[in-house]
Amino acid sequence: MSESVPETVDMDKIVSLCRRRGFIFPSSEIYGGLSSCWDYGPLGVELKRNVKDAWWQAMVRERDDMVGIDASILMHPQTWVASGHVDGFADPLVDCKNCRMRWRSDDLAENKCPACGGELTEPRMFNLMFKTFMGPVEEQASVVYLRPETAQGIFVNFQNVLNTTRKRLPFGIAQIGKSFRNEITVGNFIFRSREFEQMEVEYFVKPGTDKEWFDYWVQERFNWYIKMGIKKEHLKLRQHDKTELAHYALDCYDVNYLFPMGWAELEGIANRGDFDLGQHAKYSGKSLDYFDEEAKEHINPYVIEPSAGVDRSVLAFLVDAYDEDVAEGEKRVVMRFHPGIAPIKVAVLPLSRKEHLAAFAKEIYADLRRHWMVQYDDAQSIGRRYRRQDEIGTPLCVTVDFQSLEDKQVTVRERDSMKQIRIPISELQKTLAAKLAGEDILVLPPGGQVWK
Ligand code: ATP
Repeated sequence: MSESVPETVDMDKIVSLCRRRGFIFPSSEIYGGLSSCWDYGPLGVELKRNVKDAWWQAMVRERDDMVGIDASILMHPQTWVASGHVDGFADPLVDCKNCRMRWRSDDLAENKCPACGGELTEPRMFNLMFKTFMGPVEEQASVVYLRPETAQGIFVNFQNVLNTTRKRLPFGIAQIGKSFRNEITVGNFIFRSREFEQMEVEYFVKPGTDKEWFDYWVQERFNWYIKMGIKKEHLKLRQHDKTELAHYALDCYDVNYLFPMGWAELEGIANRGDFDLGQHAKYSGKSLDYFDEEAKEHINPYVIEPSAGVDRSVLAFLVDAYDEDVAEGEKRVVMRFHPGIAPIKVAVLPLSRKEHLAAFAKEIYADLRRHWMVQYDDAQSIGRRYRRQDEIGTPLCVTVDFQSLEDKQVTVRERDSMKQIRIPISELQKTLAAKLAGEDILVLPPGGQVWK
């Protein structure tokens, strides 16, 4: 039975908008680019920062049971022996004997090269960790790895956090940072790259309460995407079957998103039991247990891990926001970002470049940018400027005209409905804050009116 699939946008449209408007560029493009590495441009960096800030706000700042850390990317090499990455973090690699392309054999539906149909070699295991050398001598003893996940930086700091924060179980440690994987097959724009960012939490709980906390985090993380504006019908939970689970994992769900190439993992939530702390205790010789004051006994906490990709989230937010409609008889591309995610919150648009009007509009701009990321745009017709802001997803535009000089009022236009209100400048900041927090554009402040 075929499943009905909601519509989504072409990846090409997203890639081209990102390039055209300065969200994301290929890395080192003037040298021909570097496969699967990407640079975030002026709008992309704001978008990405907003995604990370929204996550940090929800996961750390608004919770009593969470603290953050920022561990280094290079870690003691034993970390990766203990975690199992040196022995086990590998994918099966096959080469095409004809065109020499390389593939992950578990990605292939048939045993032949997807590019040319050629014969493939036997699979061999390929470790995905990037190696580098620490210090001036390139020898085996100085090998270190670029971390393939941020999680291990959390586990090795478990005792440090416990000793310095007085946190009691259950509590979590959160981290956002770069990870590196020498992926065999990359692609689908920023979905899978070799350098990416993760947002991870290790949530430590008493054994026996882990199932309950696991269910809690699966729901919590699913709901976060909806709260930040992703359409519910574009999200799905998928439980791993027993054969997919890592040997130590007790359960795992993926939050899947309907990307242009189909449903794929956005975030994984795993019940990792006591595997990680146990391994690090064993390999470091340090005790990583927890003294339960109530029961007066030492226990080995279990851990629930919600692990999300920043870049994959950025891609999901871009895809989900993309829309096309008609404005004043013309096709309009509009990015319907949640205001918390939108790179630019407000644009100030003076109707003319004439000096006295520009000076007045710049004062408004200077005042607003103390609160938000605001853009000032005085180039071309007002219609063209609205279209430009719609295309980068700016929720609100403030238009300053000659009448504003007289009546000290400005027009506020909303991106989605294109409705406009005219309000006193003295009410502007408060009104913009209310609209960005979700209030209807037509709720008027004192002295405001619906504009034609
Ligand atoms: P996949 O099966 O897609 O390779 P994974 O199951 O190996 O992902 P995890 O190790 O669970 O991924 O990492 C957690 C999250 O980190 C993923 O859900 C994803 O959002 C992100 N992530 C992992 N690998 C990459 C990558 N190569 N590029 C971008 N994001 C990634």
